[in-house]
Amino acid sequence: MPESNKEALQRLDAAHHLHPFTDGRALQQKGTRVIERGEGVYLWDADGNRILDGMAGLWCVNLGYGRQELIEAADAQLRQLPYYNLFFQTTHPPAARLAATLAGLLPGDLHHLFFTGSGSECNDTVVRMVRHFWAERGRPERRVIISRNNAYHGSTLAGASLGGMKPMHGQGGLPLPDMVHIDQPYHFGEGRDTDPHAFGLERARQLERKILALGPERVAAFIGEPVQGAGGVIIPPDGYWPEIQRICQKYDVLLVMDEVICGFGRTGHWFASEYYGLAPDLLCMAKGITSGYQPLGAVAVGDRVAETLINGGEFFHGFTYSGHPVACAVAQACIEVMQREQVVERVRDDIGPYLQRRWASLGDHPLVGETRGLGLLAALELVADQATLQRFPTDTGAGLICREHCFEQGLVMRAVGDTMIISPPLVITHEQVDELVEKARRALDLTLSTLSNQQGK
Ligand code: PMP
Repeated sequence: MPESNKEALQRLDAAHHLHPFTDGRALQQKGTRVIERGEGVYLWDADGNRILDGMAGLWCVNLGYGRQELIEAADAQLRQLPYYNLFFQTTHPPAARLAATLAGLLPGDLHHLFFTGSGSECNDTVVRMVRHFWAERGRPERRVIISRNNAYHGSTLAGASLGGMKPMHGQGGLPLPDMVHIDQPYHFGEGRDTDPHAFGLERARQLERKILALGPERVAAFIGEPVQGAGGVIIPPDGYWPEIQRICQKYDVLLVMDEVICGFGRTGHWFASEYYGLAPDLLCMAKGITSGYQPLGAVAVGDRVAETLINGGEFFHGFTYSGHPVACAVAQACIEVMQREQVVERVRDDIGPYLQRRWASLGDHPLVGETRGLGLLAALELVADQATLQRFPTDTGAGLICREHCFEQGLVMRAVGDTMIISPPLVITHEQVDELVEKARRALDLTLSTLSNQQGK
């Protein structure tokens, strides 16, 4: 039989393409999945299968695939000015307009924007900015940045160091100096025998103990995702964030919110900082800013830090693609669509609560130890015993088995260990939520029978 188009692509891919976050040998043995097309909340693979994208790509395609407004904005900007930089006292209309639009949407006094090409670049920018800020203020010894175990802040050296993923630290001698971690507010994983509120406060107070152990005069900033995404959609107990903010204020430690996933409506608010009542000094965004149609990130900077930066001489930092005009034009169009269609309000008042209600119905499945969610983020914990919440031994691979069954059902759901997570496009309809939950239930049934067969062997 002649080689199909898909097989030819798989062969080229296996020979020449090194994939991100992938075990190369395992992939070559299995063959890559080829995704060819997207429309709305659906993807089509090279075999013609239609797949409901329960992850909105990588938490980013908030408006779904094939939005004409975004395509036309890119097309028009490519014709007008496909590239120019923002160095050397220059701006261009898409960057200037987008900065002003974002300043109008952001909470608190986050009135200033520094553009990057990605979330990782945002976090590298944060590290350089906060250290420069403190040096300019005559406190160069304030260098330490405190983050959390199992946080994800990107894959660059600073991003991976700020992140608390041990396997990432293990490759290449990370974290970089002066980046330290406290425990995460993961109630199901690390405190399910305790009262959630007390657990949240206890985890927040680790920050105070860490600041005191280091010496407050050495601590520059604390960084956290409002809801940890890649770590497993970990929603901190109420009381956690207000306590973190109180501690930061007490010791004059800058509060940095990494809203790369949570920004742009994911939680039913433009930014999750609003939901949690936070006034961060810096806020990182990417992904949903363009609905994933173009690579773009931005660090929003509050008045106090911005004033020091503006008056602090040249900040020796920037990227060729900082504020790329096509990306900024697409972001502007994306925000306009979100405003016109009231996407954020719909997540808050309609589709978010609907998804959470339907998702919670999976809690009666014998494999499920907990369901949780916020806005259009949700997770469920696979357990070996629903009564005791006993988890599977790690080598069982229950999460990966479930993920494969989801794919077979035509659903993208991600596995973080044995935590199954979703983050669908914000434009998903009620019927599509029903489809998602039905497919997830069917995948759970199949996972249960696969696991029972394994145990029977
Ligand atoms: N921060 C958070 C919270 C993220 O979820 C991610 C990506 N998943 C990043 C930073 C890194 O963003 P990027 O992949 O665009 O560099």
